[in-house]
Amino acid sequence: MENYQGSVSINTENIFPIIKKWLYSEKDIFIREIVSNASDAINKLKKLIAVGEANIDADEWKIEVTVDKDAGTITVFDNGIGMTEDEVIKYINQIAFSGAKDFLEKYQDKTDDAQIIGHFGLGFYSAFMVSDKVEIDTLSYIEGAESVHWESTSGMDFVMNKSDSEERGTYITMHIAEDSKEYLDGYKLKDTLLKYFSFLPVNLYFTDVQEEEKKEADRQKKAEEAKEKGELVQDVIDVPTPINNVMPLWAKPVKDCTDEEYKEFYKTLFHDYNEPLFWIHLNTDYPFNLKGILYFPKLKSQYDTLEGEVKVYYNQVFVADNVKEILPEYLMLLKGAIDCPDLPLNVSRSFLQNDGYVNKISAHITKKVADKLTGLFNTDKDNYLKYWDDINPFIKFGCLKDEKFYDKVKEAIVYKTTANEYFTIDELGDTNAIHYTDDLVQQAQYINMYKDSDVKIVVLNGPLDNHFMSYIEYKNPGKVKFVRVDADVTETMKDSSGDITQETLDNISNTLTDDFKKVSANDKINVKAESMKTSIPAIVLLSEESRRMQEMAKMYGGLGFRMDDDVTIVLNAKNKSVQKLMELKANGSDQEKSELICEQIYDIAMLAHKPMDAENMTRFIERSAKILDMFSE
Ligand code: ADP
Ligand code: MG
Repeated sequence: MENYQGSVSINTENIFPIIKKWLYSEKDIFIREIVSNASDAINKLKKLIAVGEANIDADEWKIEVTVDKDAGTITVFDNGIGMTEDEVIKYINQIAFSGAKDFLEKYQDKTDDAQIIGHFGLGFYSAFMVSDKVEIDTLSYIEGAESVHWESTSGMDFVMNKSDSEERGTYITMHIAEDSKEYLDGYKLKDTLLKYFSFLPVNLYFTDVQEEEKKEADRQKKAEEAKEKGELVQDVIDVPTPINNVMPLWAKPVKDCTDEEYKEFYKTLFHDYNEPLFWIHLNTDYPFNLKGILYFPKLKSQYDTLEGEVKVYYNQVFVADNVKEILPEYLMLLKGAIDCPDLPLNVSRSFLQNDGYVNKISAHITKKVADKLTGLFNTDKDNYLKYWDDINPFIKFGCLKDEKFYDKVKEAIVYKTTANEYFTIDELGDTNAIHYTDDLVQQAQYINMYKDSDVKIVVLNGPLDNHFMSYIEYKNPGKVKFVRVDADVTETMKDSSGDITQETLDNISNTLTDDFKKVSANDKINVKAESMKTSIPAIVLLSEESRRMQEMAKMYGGLGFRMDDDVTIVLNAKNKSVQKLMELKANGSDQEKSELICEQIYDIAMLAHKPMDAENMTRFIERSAKILDMFSE
């Protein structure tokens, strides 16, 4: 072969700043592109063999990545199809470079990075972004082919001549530039390889030349030491092992996968030693190809923010995490891997054209997830209920985000009660007043009053529950209504066992209204009296509507909404302090004492209703101490 020189008519000064800017944020891309090309080269040859157009028996298909820090090079070798001289001219000099040229022409004025990446992958060319010089040594599979050497320092001018490579396939040698030296670090490079190629379908080997030399030196030293001591030297030969797993679990037929394998795979994917709760193995051939496993993770605590991770692969090559075009937001709360070989990826692989196909994938996955949930609910309810605490934030978020998802899973939504039982909405009884608590500690007094009744109190204390309740009410107009336990005095809370008459009750409220207006500093407070099943002297009620308005106001910046108008204090006619207060009022004696009792009753009621501020708390504690002193005298 003659020496062949040429140049590509691209203006270096223009193109590099643009591409470098892009690569700066995703520099790893170069290794993904070069190794992907190696994998493509092997696939091409395999296909030719399969159709009888090539007659080769390869004992092993492989890609070898070698880093040599001293030489400053990274080499990627594959024993795939190789290239003839004509092919190098065509595919590298003309096509690969013309991609770069198009890129320059169309995008030199554009600054939107995403758009640039979206339209051009610069595959082979990306090697120049980290290299001062790139060499190709390649030998085509075609019988009698001659090997070709190609090199280029600028990415613009190249030289081609005869190579001395004797192995079928292609070596790409990248002489790493000063500003990309970090890739010469064996750990960093291996990590990057594992990120993209953990599941590459062809064996991938990694060698760090200096690391190997160190190992070899160690081995010799040990051997010599052993020899000096007169011990027998066992020569251990390191059999190189691929760093990847060519058969990820998702590629295995569903019927051959065991629970242990699913759990193990989860561990290797996420290094999460908490076992997943359950999983969905996706495996579709028609109308599109989609494989993958989605796991429902276990929450570490109830208030854990959900943070999923769904890795997207393209023919077992990693593309990106949480690709929002493929997965609805709430599905990204799951963990797992999906492989979509039909994705309309552009050459740069990381960007998707959002077309109908992608929507179909998304709809398919949503349906599978909903089917899994309702399936578990219908056939394995005990376990489903066990999982509920972990999966409910996901389900609720999904319902709030996607009406279709809600429609599919609504039958499988359950509510947990204060007695740790789970019921569907229909099983709860009167759905027009589903009592709930959002704070088991704060509202314990109210909850207690329901203790002996049939009324079920559901616990809705998650970060999404407020929205979720409103959503369920909105989806079931006139049918479902949630009321917090401290919203009203229900029949259940009343104690009709004694002989306290309505007259007595009216008398209490009439007598004490002014006093409680005073201690509450709220002119509009309603004062009522009831015989109640609690031992405490009074409870405070705030209607559900007012409380929600208040919460909304808080959320949207507290626009001066006052709750005062709608607060009720219900005095417990059965309570001794209330009775004592009535006595003191009747004979008009000991003004100071009756005030003290009033204040204390009010504070105790407020304490069970909402957190106290510092000032009130100080006063409450001081007063309590005073009462204790009085009691001790
Ligand atoms: P693409 O891979 O999308 O075709 P690239 O710029 O990555 O674009 O590569 C350009 C072409 O160079 C490839 O299509 C292929 O024909 C050739 N090529 C690159 N790397 C190899 C390789 N390792 N073995 C054989 N051919 C290769
Ligand atoms: Mg490529």
